[in-house]
Amino acid sequence: MRHIAIVGSGPAGYYTAEAALKAFGPGNEGAVRVDIFDMLPVPFGLIRSGVAPDHQSIKAVSRRYEKVALDDRVRFVGNVAIGRDVSVDELRGLYDAVVLATGAPRDRPLGVPGEELGNVFGSAAFVGWYNGHPQFAQLAPDLSGKTAAIIGMGNVALDVARILAKTPGEFSGSDIVAHALDALADSNIERIFILGRRGPHQIAMTPKELGELGELDRAAPLVRARDLPDLREDEALEPGQRKSVSHLRAFAAAGEAARAGKPVTIDFVFNVTSKALHGAGRVEAIDLERTRLAAGRSVATGETFRLPVDLVVSCIGYRTVPIPGVPFDEAGGRFANEDGRIAPGLYCVGWARRGPSGTIGTNRPDGYAVVELVEADLAAASAGEKQGGAGFDALAAERGLDVVSFTDWKRIEEAETIAAREGAPREKFVDVGAMIKARG
Ligand SMILES: Cc1cc2nc3c(=O)[nH]c(=O)nc-3n(C[C@H](O)[C@H](O)[C@H](O)COP(=O)(O)OP(=O)(O)OC[C@H]3O[C@@H](n4cnc5c(N)ncnc54)[C@H](O)[C@@H]3O)c2cc1C
Repeated sequence: MRHIAIVGSGPAGYYTAEAALKAFGPGNEGAVRVDIFDMLPVPFGLIRSGVAPDHQSIKAVSRRYEKVALDDRVRFVGNVAIGRDVSVDELRGLYDAVVLATGAPRDRPLGVPGEELGNVFGSAAFVGWYNGHPQFAQLAPDLSGKTAAIIGMGNVALDVARILAKTPGEFSGSDIVAHALDALADSNIERIFILGRRGPHQIAMTPKELGELGELDRAAPLVRARDLPDLREDEALEPGQRKSVSHLRAFAAAGEAARAGKPVTIDFVFNVTSKALHGAGRVEAIDLERTRLAAGRSVATGETFRLPVDLVVSCIGYRTVPIPGVPFDEAGGRFANEDGRIAPGLYCVGWARRGPSGTIGTNRPDGYAVVELVEADLAAASAGEKQGGAGFDALAAERGLDVVSFTDWKRIEEAETIAAREGAPREKFVDVGAMIKARG
């Protein structure tokens, strides 16, 4: 019998479990037991707390993970934070392999003066707020001002801009949490700047998500034709990027007419870098410096200007949270690893391995590849019977940990479904106590 602990129940964790069931299934090593730990009482990581609430078809991938979760050989061990409740070394003593799938939940700092001002948020916090992550549910961003600045030109920036721009009616069928829906309904924001360090050819926005900005009820994008490179230069782009840029061209061509009658403008500002934030307690302005492209990189020009803003959300990437005893790559913001191996018996996968890039599906080959490493290391190691889940249960009882099982989660989910407003799939619990209580 092989015992595998996976820390983190997001996509990377579940794909790793799926791969382990296949690799160590009947006909191979005979038997495997997989425990999937999560610090929250609810599973699925960013599928629940990152993917936009108005993109329910993407969130539906969790049904695939549920199949894995319901396998007899797999347990969900929720409400247990590794590194706080139980150490990685303790897990390594109990399991043949420990795979860290803890994601990259910490915002990369902007690194400019004024970052600590009120109403300046990283996207992990802001997205966590509208998605009901217990850590950020109390964020209470002030949406009473007229202007928001979103820093970064990736898909997360698009999500944040779209969520800020939508009418309450456009959230029907979504699982945006009630506190965010109410706050957005009262929002005064009229101009949403999306600020990028580089130009239109360097955006990291996928075509479908970018195209959505052209279909909003009360908001329309503003792209200035003068910012776009010569059309012929698009030919050198890979097809997906060319399609994204063609959306920018369509927004520019639609011009003012497309914005008529739409009180909210989503304004693309290319080739700027943020230098400082100003305000008395709360942010009031951002200093920007114009940049130019040199060999694909942005280079500062020395030309600065100030933009009045009432809210800032930086969407410039994420870092993994270090865990005591696990080597960390400070520059990369993730666990130090070689293709997923930290040390024999200790691995990492998903965003905790490679940083915050790619789609949900990118984590699948990651999970399968790390299980190949586990197989190879176990084949080379001398067989010693580890205690696995039974050993963990004894430790949890000794420490008085309140472990949440997958059956408990299904009860929490049922309570969320029952509480849903009309047309919504669920109304999420936004604090751990309420989740635990709903378990019954
Ligand atoms: C705002 C946003 C929107 C996105 N939208 C899309 C999209 O529309 N389409 C798409 O393809 N991709 C999207 N992505 C990317 C996708 O969410 C990621 O590729 C994926 O979630 C990464 O999976 P992961 O398992 O590595 O990390 P995560 O999903 O972050 O899962 C990590 C899990 O580990 C748990 N954890 C962390 N630390 C500990 C600890 N110490 N002990 C126990 N548990 C712990 C966390 O609670 C969490 O459940 C989006 C990402 C973001 C941030």
